Amino acid sequence: MDTAATVKVLNFKDLGALGSAKKKESKSRIIIGEGVVTKDGLLEGLVLELFQRQLTSCVVITDSNVARLYSQEIVQHFSQIHKTSLIKLPPGEESKSIDSSVKILAQLAKLGFDKEGLLVLLGGGVIGDLGGFVASIYKRGVKYIQLPTTLLAQIDSSIGGKTGVDATWGKNQIGTIYQPIGVIIDPSFLKTLPEREFLNGIGEMVKYGVTSNARIFEELEGNSNFESLSELTHMIEPCVKIKAKIVSRDPNDSGLRSILNYGHTIGHSIEASSNYKASHGVSVLFGMLGEGWIAHELGLFQKDDFQRQELLIKRLLRKRNNNTQFRAILSLRHEMLAKFALSDKKNAAGKLRMSLPDRIGRMHINEDGTFKIPVSLDLFKSSFRYMKSIFSET
Ligand code: ADP
Ligand code: ZN
Repeated sequence: MDTAATVKVLNFKDLGALGSAKKKESKSRIIIGEGVVTKDGLLEGLVLELFQRQLTSCVVITDSNVARLYSQEIVQHFSQIHKTSLIKLPPGEESKSIDSSVKILAQLAKLGFDKEGLLVLLGGGVIGDLGGFVASIYKRGVKYIQLPTTLLAQIDSSIGGKTGVDATWGKNQIGTIYQPIGVIIDPSFLKTLPEREFLNGIGEMVKYGVTSNARIFEELEGNSNFESLSELTHMIEPCVKIKAKIVSRDPNDSGLRSILNYGHTIGHSIEASSNYKASHGVSVLFGMLGEGWIAHELGLFQKDDFQRQELLIKRLLRKRNNNTQFRAILSLRHEMLAKFALSDKKNAAGKLRMSLPDRIGRMHINEDGTFKIPVSLDLFKSSFRYMKSIFSET
């Protein structure tokens, strides 16, 4: 399978469109629907449509937390299609390693898993990234589907075919771009998602609002207290549509996709220099504060929009306060952050470059036609002072 992705999003209410979509065009489909996974026969039908051939076997890959909650039901569904086995990993980022990929490859070989089999990745970003990587290298590539169970995976990491594992020299440093045949998103999985994991996804929602769609931002702004998860699940579909559209236009991450990296230059450097004590979600929220401030200082991000972003992020951070993480961020030094930021993939010739907004819902296009704006190291350092000042107010 090549890396080209025509990613098509369907709500499961219009599933008629699945069969009629031109097969050549649609390499990766995304299906969204509350309860899709639990409705009798629906999941099996969808998977067979997506696979389009006789299946020899299924292997569900998951972690032990998700397994406890959902594996019995999911394995049962897939057993209706064909012989189904379960591979379970310990939860957490430690599982996203070359070692566990090799172990999974060996388990697949032992199960006699072949090119006509299907891998089912049930879990959050860890399972999706690791399982996608295994799918891309086992026998030079087998088919897989994603069943994302975290908000972050549902609106971001399961879409677009980025796979990978962590290396001793950095996160996601070994990987491929390899599209799943389908992503089946069922928001009902989120009912069991812990609070901290939920905030990871909200960071990306704010990102979609600022980079691509002012309406998403306004919805978040209008949300008075972010009290219940159900207040946000209706936002999954618009977020997925943005990601799908961007990935379809830039499957290999060579241009447009960089806008989805907003908040991530600083975000990743906060995560890495805190030794991952700060979660991805909180780091990206801080990252957007800092990068938004830089965009404003450069005269790009207009003042009223910059202030709206600041207010929303402050409200989110205040609402979902997490002292350990905040302390970790507060104790960081900007020299350390700069070291990580300078190894960001958007940089060129050792100079920092960031994707920055003009307005809420619109990113700035640089003179060279890219979305990567050069940023001086001094401005980067000052943004950290600004973030700290916001933090102390929070
Ligand atoms: P991310 O999508 O943020 O990369 P991970 O794959 O690391 O997340 O998953 C985060 C944690 O949440 C893991 O401990 C995982 O087992 C757990 N988890 C994933 N999905 C669910 C769910 N639907 N309900 C409860 N816990 C979940
Ligand atoms: Zn992210």
